[in-house]
Amino acid sequence: GFNCGIVGLPNVGKSTLFNALTKSGIDAENFPFCTIEPNVGIVPMPDPRLDKLAEIVKPQKVIPTTMEFVDIAGLVAGASKGEGLGNQFLANIRETQAIAHVVRCFDNDNVIHVSNQVDPRADIETINLELALADLDTVERAIQRLARVVKGGDKEAIATKAILDRIQPHLAEGQPLRSFGLDDDEKHQLKSFGLLTLKPTMYIANVNEDGFENNPYLDTVNEIAAEEGAVVVPVCNQIEAEIAELDDEERAMFLDEMGMEEPGLDRVIRAGYALLGLQTYFTAGVKEVRAWTVKIGATAPEGAGVIHTDFQKGFIRAEVVAYDDFVALGGEQGAKDAGKWRLEGKDYVLKDGDVVHFRFNV
Ligand code: GDP
Repeated sequence: GFNCGIVGLPNVGKSTLFNALTKSGIDAENFPFCTIEPNVGIVPMPDPRLDKLAEIVKPQKVIPTTMEFVDIAGLVAGASKGEGLGNQFLANIRETQAIAHVVRCFDNDNVIHVSNQVDPRADIETINLELALADLDTVERAIQRLARVVKGGDKEAIATKAILDRIQPHLAEGQPLRSFGLDDDEKHQLKSFGLLTLKPTMYIANVNEDGFENNPYLDTVNEIAAEEGAVVVPVCNQIEAEIAELDDEERAMFLDEMGMEEPGLDRVIRAGYALLGLQTYFTAGVKEVRAWTVKIGATAPEGAGVIHTDFQKGFIRAEVVAYDDFVALGGEQGAKDAGKWRLEGKDYVLKDGDVVHFRFNV
C-alpha cells in the first residue's frame, strides 16, 4: 500500500489529525477501515466519482480506494543523536513514502508549546534539522564505504560518491535535500539510501477555526514551503476531529453551517495522494463498484496487478471507458453504442478515472 507519515513537534495536533483521519471512514460500509496498529490508519480516499458510478451501475457494494497514514510520535530536538524516541522515530519515518509535517499555527494558552512560543519557522527548522542530520549520518557512512570501492575504479560507485560528496555540506548546514535541486537521475541514484529529506513532503498548517485568513503563522509556513517547492494544506484539526464524530447527515449540516464544501481532511488525503504521484481507476461490476490506486504512468497490466498478481501475469486486454463518457452515456452499454468503449493492449497507460474491465488467462 501507499503511505504517508505524520510528523511534527509534540503538541502541534498530530494525534488530533490522525484520530480524525482514522475515524472519518468508520461509517463507510462494507470495508474494514481500521487502525491496523496503534499508529497506522487505513483511510478511504474521498471520491465523489465513485457515488456517480454507483448510481449508474447500482452494485451490491461500493468500495473506495485507501491510503495509509502513520502517526510518528516522538520527534524532539536531538532525535538524530538518539534523544527521546529518536532512533525509533527515524526508523519509522524511513519506512514511509511521503511526509505530512504538521505545524502549529494556532494560539491556545491551554496547550503548552514545547519551546513556549508558537513559532512555525523555528518549529519547521527544528524538525528539518533532525531529519537533515539523520540523512547526514547516512550519507557520511555511505561516503566512507564507497571511498574503498572507488579505488577499484567502479564507475557507478564513483558517480554515486560524487553526488554524496556534493550533498554532504548541504546536510551539514541542516538543510533538507529537497531544496538542493537534484535532478531525477541523481535522485534515482540515491534511492537505495532512503534519505528522509528527499521524501515528498507537505506541510499541514494546523490553524484555529478563524485562522485560515490573516494568520501570520500560516503566512510563514507558506513562505517556507514556497522556498522549498513544497505544498501547504491549511486545516483546523480540532474541527476535523469534531466533524469525524458526526454521522453523514449531521456532517452535511455542520459543513453547510461552516460554509465548507467538504471536510478539510479530504484535502489532506488528496494532497497525500498527489504527493505520491497516484491516480485512480475504477472497476464497475454489478457486484461491486470499486476504486483502485496506481502510480501515474502505470500500464494496464500493472493496474491489473493491483487487483491480483494473476490478472497481471495472464493479462490479455483491458476494456476501457473514460469516466466522463461512462457517466455521460449512462454506463457501459451506452458507451459501446456511442463508440466510446475501447479495447486496449499491454502498453496502454491508464488514465485517471478510467473505468476498466480486464480480460485475462488463468
Ligand atoms: P500532538 O502531540 O502533536 O499529537 O498534539 P495533539 O493532537 O495531542 O494536540 C495537542 C493539543 O492541542 C490538544 O489539547 C488538542 O486538543 C489541541 N489542538 C489540536 N489542534 C488544535 C487546533 O486546531 N486548535 C486549537 N485551539 N487546539 C488544537
